[in-house]
Amino acid sequence: MSELVLTVEKLFDGNHFHEQQTVIVNEGRIVSIEDTASGAQPAGGNGSLAGTLVAGYIDVQVNGGGGYLFNQNPDLDTIKQIGKAHQRFGTTGWLPTLITDSLVQMQRAADAIAKARLANVPGVLGVHFEGPRLSVAKRGAHAQQFIRELSEAELELFTRTDLGKVVVTLAPETVPKEAIKQLTEKGVIVCIGHSSATYEQTSEALSAGATGFTHLFNAMSPLTSREPGVVGAALEDKESFCGLIMDGVHVHPAAAKVAFNAKPNLMLVTDAMPPVGCDDEHFELAGQQVLRQGNTLTNSEGNLAGSALDMANAVKNANQLMGLSLSQAINLATINPARFLGIDKEYGSLGVGKKASMVLLNNQCEVVASWIDGVQVV
Ligand SMILES: [Zn+2]
Repeated sequence: MSELVLTVEKLFDGNHFHEQQTVIVNEGRIVSIEDTASGAQPAGGNGSLAGTLVAGYIDVQVNGGGGYLFNQNPDLDTIKQIGKAHQRFGTTGWLPTLITDSLVQMQRAADAIAKARLANVPGVLGVHFEGPRLSVAKRGAHAQQFIRELSEAELELFTRTDLGKVVVTLAPETVPKEAIKQLTEKGVIVCIGHSSATYEQTSEALSAGATGFTHLFNAMSPLTSREPGVVGAALEDKESFCGLIMDGVHVHPAAAKVAFNAKPNLMLVTDAMPPVGCDDEHFELAGQQVLRQGNTLTNSEGNLAGSALDMANAVKNANQLMGLSLSQAINLATINPARFLGIDKEYGSLGVGKKASMVLLNNQCEVVASWIDGVQVV
């Protein structure tokens, strides 16, 4: 007995669009995808759904949503509420992201993630610790008082085995190469970000095992003629992954296009804050009021403080502002982040044997329905 039979007008499997397909899901996985253009409707199907079925979006940087901020109260309920807010925009896999905070708050966050994983809260793939070892000069909206050396306690926390995928953003000029090596050898995914590193220091961090860059272009040393900086090292390196906040505020479409042409491994992230999925005009972050004006969130120092972006709009912007094809835009939100996290055998595209985390889009790229591991959530 299959738990889900879905016939859709169009399906994008990660490579091609196919018309009139029937997807059969059993125990959370896709067991068959068949062309039903000319054949009879399979028994148990509920008619053909208008729209395009694509793999669910994976967002590796989510601070908040639905009025909730992970840093504010890093517990199980907060994770559930943020997840729900983002599901409406097609996010079926995500990393709750804790920005620079005290050790106690980091431990609370880790415990909440472990609980969420144990309780199978839909979509929680792990955790992203953005900080606390960042460059003070490039800290953006992170609280300076909590930026600090990594102690044994943080290293132990990052290498806990009950957290799923662990991403750590750090400034490589502030840590010994050996620390990056140790972390990555233990399975932690190290991203370079909030950093004033030189090209040299960045390249050394990549050789030591770092595989990603957090919000490319933002809060990092720029590419200049004689000093290519973090941005230059990121664009030059083909293997590593770069997150990009495509909200029309953080990155100029031309800069984003340059990155797309240079990097096979670009991925869309939201860096979302509490206003996503609700009408909140302001919230508190790291002791400062953050105000929303349109799509821009700024703290009282005038620094950008995350975004009001959701994944559906990130994909739409990659399509419309960057001028990418829909399939290219979708891949930046699906298979690329899945490859970054090393979960592309299960997630990131639609095929037999893959988990049924899927989104149905209308032709404005808006989310009509979504499923996580075969269970409908929208
Ligand atoms: Zn950041």
